[in-house]
Amino acid sequence: MRIPAFYSPLRGIALDDVWHDNDECTVARSVAPADRRPGKGPSGKRCPYCALLDRAGATFQRPPRQPR
Ligand SMILES: [Zn+2]
Repeated sequence: MRIPAFYSPLRGIALDDVWHDNDECTVARSVAPADRRPGKGPSGKRCPYCALLDRAGATFQRPPRQPR
């Protein structure tokens, strides 16, 4: 599921300083909620796993059509 972007000065198991926006991301889950900071961090790089999950989500669970 998409969540507001956060990063952590402690990184969790990530190799790089990256920000996350998907709560199914293993790396994001390795960061304790108390260590999360809102925003995209100093590096501004997005977590590649979050990006991947985003694409998978787009394929397998389309959002319901919104009536205009
Ligand atoms: Zn991530």
